[in-house]
Amino acid sequence: MAYPSGSKYVIIGAGIHGLSCAWRLAERLKATGKGSGSDVLVLDKSGIASGASGIACGVVRNNYFQPAMRELMAHSVKVWESDPKAFSYHPVGYMQISHEGMREDVTSIYEQQKVIGYESEFIEGENDSRIYMKGLFSDWRAQNITSVLHEKKGGYANNTAAVYGLAGKAEAAGVRILTGATVTGFTRGNGSQAITAVETDKGNIACEEVVVAVGPWVKTIWDMLELPRDLAIKGADGTMHEGIPTWRYWCLEEGVIGVDPGLQKLNDGGMPPVIHVDTDAVLYSDVDGSVVREEPWGIYYKPDFHFGGVQGGAMPYEVMTPADEVAIDPYGPESPEFIVGDDFAHMWCSALSHCQERFSGQIGKFKKEPSGGLGCFTPDSFPIFDTFCQNVHIIADSNHGYKMIGVGHLVADEILGGKQTLLEPFRFDRYAKGALHPVSSSPYPWS
Ligand SMILES: Cc1cc2nc3c(=O)[nH]c(=O)nc-3n(C[C@H](O)[C@H](O)[C@H](O)COP(=O)(O)OP(=O)(O)OC[C@H]3O[C@@H](n4cnc5c(N)ncnc54)[C@H](O)[C@@H]3O)c2cc1C
Repeated sequence: MAYPSGSKYVIIGAGIHGLSCAWRLAERLKATGKGSGSDVLVLDKSGIASGASGIACGVVRNNYFQPAMRELMAHSVKVWESDPKAFSYHPVGYMQISHEGMREDVTSIYEQQKVIGYESEFIEGENDSRIYMKGLFSDWRAQNITSVLHEKKGGYANNTAAVYGLAGKAEAAGVRILTGATVTGFTRGNGSQAITAVETDKGNIACEEVVVAVGPWVKTIWDMLELPRDLAIKGADGTMHEGIPTWRYWCLEEGVIGVDPGLQKLNDGGMPPVIHVDTDAVLYSDVDGSVVREEPWGIYYKPDFHFGGVQGGAMPYEVMTPADEVAIDPYGPESPEFIVGDDFAHMWCSALSHCQERFSGQIGKFKKEPSGGLGCFTPDSFPIFDTFCQNVHIIADSNHGYKMIGVGHLVADEILGGKQTLLEPFRFDRYAKGALHPVSSSPYPWS
């Protein structure tokens, strides 16, 4: 097929957001008689699911402290539920199991989940929490746990399978997905900020609207668009904090322990929810009993046949290299720098054993293949969904995003003319206005 010289809608990135947006655009164009899927072109420098979406743990949850995040997530869960088979989605639920320092935040999450009709159960107190957990897993033994939020919805999806499911839907609706095409710049109209063509390593593609959904590469495209590299944030007391870098990176640490995934089944033989534990109990080594961590720590895990074991992760770490110098490519497991090492395996496997006796002595089964990867974060670690340069729609999820399968839909609906209230709290001008999201006590930059 000839290289395209133009397409009304050009979407950069064939990950969860780009493909969700392409699929919705195509369907809405057809339904409204304003066009068809052939007006939509997705470009990717590598291939479908070759970015963060293809290596994500795939957890879908709602336990956000921020009301705007919860509402957005509830919308996305409906999209996951719309076709679990195509998205390889496992609605097993999700559990936030926490120490006392987080109880107040989690109580408020539960209260607000009730308000928006998101089904969950909340257990409080050390004894009741232990009884509840032992009712699910007889070998439960995590310490210092005083609350359990059990979300009955959500769960996880198999990372690449879900993205291919989206690609299939987009292509069935007439969208063209062009891989091996790298965006290298943009052409602007005369005397206008608007983009008239997307420049690629294989030629220019004229367009009317551009969607940027490039995950960890967002800073590269942002710089090409000459958007602000620093910004000012208005604090709660009205003081402006100048010169805050727009982007920074964190490295996500995940891995797989190569046991039979069935090892993690519930007492009744069923498949368990995704488990997320945050505790301030001292973490001891499962190898030699030495202290691994004295400060609060957290892990998440799930049995996963796609990964061939029990898969999960721990807290990410901030990459201290200046953002301009961070090597994003080669990405994910190919990176020589941003993959997990022995320290992660030791901590995560010891933590698994801290939580459930069945993981004791299993560290030798930790899979040695490279895992983990970079995420690009905004100044407040919450997404930016906004339009820049008049016709460039940026989906920068600040690494919250695999679960946000519905965001691409909402962006498509905005492009076709309808402002989306669910996206409003994520506009870029919230920094200058000081309209920031509330901050939780979680040790994670994404809660
Ligand atoms: C290890 C890890 C685990 C995670 N686990 C979870 C999880 O359990 N749950 C969750 O909700 N989120 C998770 N996340 C976050 C989530 O994966 C991301 O937020 C989300 O996948 C981003 O999707 P995206 O579509 O924006 O980008 P991506 O999936 O990264 O796709 C971007 C695409 O853009 C392409 N591209 C980049 N630059 C260019 C260019 N110049 N020209 C053309 N194409 C280009 C890339 O090749 C890539 O295919 C995890 C992230 C990591 C790294």
